[in-house]
Amino acid sequence: MSAPPRYNSSSPTSDSSSGNPKLVAPSSLSRYESQKRRDWNTFGQYLKNHKPPLVLSRCSGAHILEFLRYLDQFGKTKVHGGVCPFFGHPHPPAPCPCPLRQAWGSLDALVGRLRAAFEENGGRPETNPFGARAVRLYLREVRDSQAKARGIAYEKKKRKKPLKQQQQQQQQQMEMQAVGGGVEEEAAGLMLVGSSAARGSIILPLSVLN
Ligand SMILES: [Zn+2]
Repeated sequence: MSAPPRYNSSSPTSDSSSGNPKLVAPSSLSRYESQKRRDWNTFGQYLKNHKPPLVLSRCSGAHILEFLRYLDQFGKTKVHGGVCPFFGHPHPPAPCPCPLRQAWGSLDALVGRLRAAFEENGGRPETNPFGARAVRLYLREVRDSQAKARGIAYEKKKRKKPLKQQQQQQQQQMEMQAVGGGVEEEAAGLMLVGSSAARGSIILPLSVLN
C-alpha cells in the first residue's frame, strides 16, 4: 500500500471483448450498464415485433427461450452438430458447415443483465421471466451441449455419450465470455465439477416450456 498508481496509461488495455475480469475498473461498470440498457432495448424491440404481439407483463420463461433461440442467428460461435466429424474437436483442422450460435457464456451473461433490467424497470422479482426455471434449465443444457460439441478437455476423459440433447439443441459453443460478471463464474464452477450433471442429460421438459 505504498505508492498508488499515478496514472494507468501503461496498463495493458487489450480491450478484448472477450471480457477480462482482471481489469475491473469503473469504466467496466458503466460498460455493463450500457450493455444492459442495450440488451433491454433489444428485448423491447423483440417484443414489439413479436407475432402475435407480446407485452412484457405477459412474458413467461418460454418467451425468453424463444428470444434466446432467436438470437442464435446472430451468434458467432461455431457449434458442431453430432454428425460433424469435428464434433468434440477443440481445434478443428478444416472448415465445416455447422452453424454459428450464441456462446453459452454470452447467453448466460445476457440473461443476467436482462434479469436485472427487468426489475430495475419495475418488474417484480417473483414474476421475472428471466429468472424462470425453464431459462435456467435451458442455459444449463446449452452449456453442457456446447461443452461436448467443442470437446472441452474434461469431457475428453469421458466416453462419448448419446447425444439426444445435442440433436435437440445444437445451440452455441461454450465460451467463457464473461462480459457480465458474477453469474457465469458460478456457472463455470459448476461446469468444471459438473460432469455428473452433464451426464444427467437435462432435456427441457415441454411442460416447463408451455
Ligand atoms: Zn462442424
